[in-house]
Amino acid sequence: MLDLNASVLLIYTGGTIGMIEDSRTGSLKPVDFNNLKQNVSELKRLKFNIDATSFAVPVDSSDMGPAEWQEIVRIIETNYEKYDGFVILHGTDTMAYTASALSFMMQNLTKPVILTGSQLPIGKIRTDAKENLITALEIAVDKDPDGRAFVPEVCIFFQNLLMRGNRTTKINAANFKAFNSFNYPILAEAGTNIVYQHDRIFHPAEGTRPEFHYLLDHNVAIIKLFPGISAYTLNAIFEIPSLKGVVLETYGSGNAPGGETFLKIIKNAVSKGIVMVNVTQCASGTVSMDRYENGRRLQATGVISGRDITTESAVAKLMFLLGHGYAYNDVVRLMNTSVAGEVTVE
Ligand code: ASP
Repeated sequence: MLDLNASVLLIYTGGTIGMIEDSRTGSLKPVDFNNLKQNVSELKRLKFNIDATSFAVPVDSSDMGPAEWQEIVRIIETNYEKYDGFVILHGTDTMAYTASALSFMMQNLTKPVILTGSQLPIGKIRTDAKENLITALEIAVDKDPDGRAFVPEVCIFFQNLLMRGNRTTKINAANFKAFNSFNYPILAEAGTNIVYQHDRIFHPAEGTRPEFHYLLDHNVAIIKLFPGISAYTLNAIFEIPSLKGVVLETYGSGNAPGGETFLKIIKNAVSKGIVMVNVTQCASGTVSMDRYENGRRLQATGVISGRDITTESAVAKLMFLLGHGYAYNDVVRLMNTSVAGEVTVE
């Protein structure tokens, strides 16, 4: 149901959506928000209020990191009471990481936070930006007859799909269908109507209040295994003195080399207090370390199962948990818990 008194805050962080071509090199670079507004006269025709704010210096999303995530949370927390929903314009390259991080940094939301962007700049005639932006804005104000937001979650809307943000992965560098949510069903699909799958959408527990968190620790690493990865490479990473957490991208259902040298390196890292999370390199499916002998051996080192979490979400969750100073056992326990719908725990 469209509330005509509704109000959305549009937060422009950068990305292709607002970029223009550098006349000298021909490459795309971020420009300020006015360029974007000039190109979407349709915004004036929407029947609810849209206010806009922008990063002082819009960035290519490959320049996004914890400081920029904190800035987004600060903007939303400061404006939370004033708006019915929030739309974040963001580059596609790291949008899945930002969406994952924001889902941990903003919990018990009662209002939608929708990230979107585009593959072609908004000034291009064939741009996908206008549809993405306009539908994201509509989702941000959509409510049930009791005035409750349909989607009080951090989501990505792209092409025609609304996905839980911490379940998404960028899957294509050129296609308008740039994201997928392999291990969790789509929350809504936009065709002639926006069709919500209400039973899949996360709602805050009764009596909770929205929480905004800022602490993150980026002393983490992602190690993608490949056949032939050497002990030197692994040891070099595990010798980083400040390292606290590692997402270990393994094969298939969570398998890794079963030889003594590899397992000893992993076991040593775990015994130093490094939280090791096993995430599969496969786009979909889940880690189940008891399926194969090699998986069992890996499990015996103390590596914890990331189940069906994405790498993007696992690394953001580690930063969030380590940033909050939880003891090792609590980090392990919470990695095994669904904090924001990021993992299937039965
Ligand atoms: N490099 C751009 C970015 O992520 C790509 C995009 O927006 O699609 O900012």
